[in-house]
Amino acid sequence: MPVSSPERQTMVLERSRAWVEVDEGAITHNTRVLRQRIGPHVKLMAVVKANGYGHGDGATAHAARAGGADAFAVASLVEAVGLRRQGLQEPVLVLGHLSRMDEARACLRWRLLPTISTLDQARVFHAVASDAGACLPVHVNLDTGMARLGTPWQEGAALVQAIQLLGNLRVEGVYSHLAAADAVDPGLTRRQRQRFDRVLAQLGNGQPARLCRHLANSAATMADTSLHYDMVRVGLALYGHAPAEHLAGILPLQPAMAVRARVTLLKTVPAGTGISYDHHYHTTRPSRLAVVAIGYADGVPRLLSSRMGVLHRGHWLPQVGAITMDQLVIDATDHPQLHAGAVVTLLGHDGTATISPRQWSEACDTIPWDILCGFSNRLPRLSAGHSPLQGDPATLQW
Ligand SMILES: *Cc1c(COP(=O)(O)O)cnc(C)c1O
Repeated sequence: MPVSSPERQTMVLERSRAWVEVDEGAITHNTRVLRQRIGPHVKLMAVVKANGYGHGDGATAHAARAGGADAFAVASLVEAVGLRRQGLQEPVLVLGHLSRMDEARACLRWRLLPTISTLDQARVFHAVASDAGACLPVHVNLDTGMARLGTPWQEGAALVQAIQLLGNLRVEGVYSHLAAADAVDPGLTRRQRQRFDRVLAQLGNGQPARLCRHLANSAATMADTSLHYDMVRVGLALYGHAPAEHLAGILPLQPAMAVRARVTLLKTVPAGTGISYDHHYHTTRPSRLAVVAIGYADGVPRLLSSRMGVLHRGHWLPQVGAITMDQLVIDATDHPQLHAGAVVTLLGHDGTATISPRQWSEACDTIPWDILCGFSNRLPRLSAGHSPLQGDPATLQW
């Protein structure tokens, strides 16, 4: 038999153990749905930090652009330059704090929008821009209640005016971040919005010209159109998840991620067998166990040990014992059809059944964001269209 092509070898290897399946069509769909929600006069900034919340930032950005995204946001320069290298030409806002000359030069070189929180920081960017004889657009961040990045909102208007006077910087945007937009009680969001409005009023009519004002994350975008201003910054909703239970159902979002893994070994053990490290779990009957090739080093939280399950052909099978670094064990006693090489679904759809990131996050006392961006680089990111759910690993000729 002929040696398989390197592409085919890679394809087969990527599906031999465990992988993240990304449905780019779902991301495009979600972007369209969000676009409809905000209307034609509001811009949509797709937040693709942390490798697109674990979905792959390049694939996510291209899919969001196809659905009508106008701009992108990331946390770091490495992420921003990565988008440029993957062919994305749209505006890219860096949400993290940049303050060094070399970082400012990278913003100029790659046409990236820095977030400005202080005048000292603005002076660094101004020095670099004037050296280059350029005018660098920036976005000023106001701290209206997050107490993280941003200038205290009381000083926001003065900071914007001081930056404008520097000459080689142009304040293109003014933004703030909401601390509890997903809360049922809108009190804090209302206070933050009032502070944001106060600064905008102090800046006066249209000063600076064509100012882009933005405040809303996914929750605010979904919950309240009056929070949209000139642009919204959406992350979680783009990937198909509601930021809170009470916001689910507002928009027909489609989850874009599935996490799947292979069953590698089956064994039958007697009742009373202790399973995995420390024997936290003992079988109560003669049991058929299946070892699945995925573990906490892949991003399955160890806290989910004996509190999760997997799907196979629409059935739910419980996970038992401690989740280990590279494997976990499921109880397949009631599923004699499960065979070595079978694909099980840890997260996402399998037929009509589904497991959501929120089910995981509630079981281990965290939030869906943490689950999605917790999947490690060991898991290949594969396009959903090219990844058959069932079937054995193909044989390869090396
Ligand atoms: C991450 C982030 C967002 C996106 O938040 P979601 O809740 O995922 O929509 C928006 N704005 C800022 C400043 C962020 O850091």
